[in-house]
Formats: sequence, C-alpha cells, structure tokens
Amino acid sequence: MARRREQVKRRQVVRRRILFGSVAGVLVIAALVLLLMGGSDSTDNSQAPVAAASGQNDAPANEASGTGGEAARGGAQPDDSWKPYTGPVPILMYHVIGPAAGSEDYPGLFLDTADFEAQVEWLADNGYTAVTLIQVQNAWYDGATLPPKPVVLSFDDGYLGQYLYAMPILEKQGWGGQLNLKAEGSDLSSKQVKKMYRAGWEIASHTITHPDLTTLDPATLEQELVGSKEMLEKDLGIEIVNFCYPAGQYNAEVADAVEAAGYRGATTVNPGLGEKSMPYELDRVRIDNGDGADALAEKLSALGV
Ligand SMILES: [Zn+2]
Repeated sequence: MARRREQVKRRQVVRRRILFGSVAGVLVIAALVLLLMGGSDSTDNSQAPVAAASGQNDAPANEASGTGGEAARGGAQPDDSWKPYTGPVPILMYHVIGPAAGSEDYPGLFLDTADFEAQVEWLADNGYTAVTLIQVQNAWYDGATLPPKPVVLSFDDGYLGQYLYAMPILEKQGWGGQLNLKAEGSDLSSKQVKKMYRAGWEIASHTITHPDLTTLDPATLEQELVGSKEMLEKDLGIEIVNFCYPAGQYNAEVADAVEAAGYRGATTVNPGLGEKSMPYELDRVRIDNGDGADALAEKLSALGV
C-alpha cells in the first residue's frame, strides 16, 4: 500500500512539474509576445490604423486597444454629430506657445499661453472641434466623417511649450494638435513626442535640418523628405503621413518630391484654408503674437468658416 501511495505521489509530483513547466512556458511566450508588440509599435501604434479607424463611424475609433499595455489614444473621436465632409478646413499655424523669452528675435513666432488658452476655449464655445490632418484627409478622400466645424491646430518645429502648455490646454477639450516636427534639433525628446501622440496629436515631418527646400539638389532634397520620414517613423514607432514645408518654401519640383516621398499632404504658410484639391499646397491661418480669441474669430470669419 505504502509503495503504491509513494508511486501515486511521485506521479502527481511529475504531473505537477509538467503542468508547472507548461504554464511557465506559456507565460514566457506571452511575455515575449507582449515585449515584441510593445517594443516595435510600428504596427499597432502607427498613425495608419488611426487613419483607418477614424474612417469608420463607430466611436470610439481607437486603435490603441489590444496594443499590449499601450495607453489609449486621445484626440477627437467620431460621434453622431460627425458627417461626411469634403469642404475646406482651417489649419491654424502656431509656433512657440508660452513665456516670450527670446521673442525679441522672432516676435511673430511667440504666443502667450493665456492667449492660446483663450483661443482654444473660444473654439470650443463656438462649436469647433480640433481634428488631425489625417482625419481631414480621411473625410476628403475616403468618405470618413468630420465634426460640424472642423479645425486643425498645427504647431511647427517642436518647441518645448508645445508639449508643456499647448498639449494640456488642448487635452482639456479632448483634442490633439498637429506637430510638424524636425527630425533633428527640436526641443522635444522622443518620449515627449510619444506622449503627444498618445494625447491624440498627429506627428508630421518638417524635414531633418529645416533647410530651404527650393535650394537643394535632388539627392539632398530626397534625403530631407524620405530620410526625415524614416527617422521619425523609426524613432517614434508610428507612421508619418504628412509634411510641412520649412518656412513655407516650396515650388512645383519640391511639391512633386514630397508626393514621391510617400506623403499624403503638405502644409504651407500661404494664407487661406486647406482644400481637398490642393493636397501638397495646404494653406494655413497664421496666428500672430498678441492674437487672442477676438483676433482668431476675425481671421476665421474673414475666411468664411
Ligand atoms: Zn519650421
């Protein structure tokens, strides 16, 4: 009897060992899968799924579920008030948000945080919703929906105040902005840019070194366009869809090269509205130092939006 009991016990131990071994094995494999998913979020966390997701009507169109621990992505999401729309969209152009240190050199590039906050509150109070350019393009070209009064808030170069002040102010409305980021030499770390992306911002390329693109030879031009896209995509693990011309400098050759580099659209500094028919020459509404809610209201009203 004792021997049999001993054998049974041993068998149980062996069985438990096998069981433990396979559970541990499954856990190790699961951990590896999670690591791989989290490490190369180029598939799960790209802006391409955002584009695809926001093209559908069912809210919340959020690609972030199932990204293995990745935080949910913010920004405006479709609801019943969103409708198909292919008309012009105002794209506001901002640079430095925050204290005006150094504003003596380029006063036009600075905007006080309080002025910015007043503008965002005015937009919200007047029925506007900030969306990304990708969301606009999905409506223009793929039949997706947009809110009743869509507006894109774009921020050039990658200044710290865009992260410190603009992001939280927009986040209060559940909105993201559009960051036109230099691949090298911006104020922002990859970690900060990733946080902005997760807060619903679109990250667009603004070249590597911010040159006047109309002065470059074809190879250097391609490097600034294709190279910056690849650098940002690798660094951030997201797809870069759109482009912004440094200092608004472009010509027909540059615009063709932007298209050939695989971008879906490009923003200029030409005054006006973004139009579906001009994907590589999207006009913007310049916001100047000292512009408060009233100035923004006047600028939008002058453009009929
Ligand atoms: Zn710039």
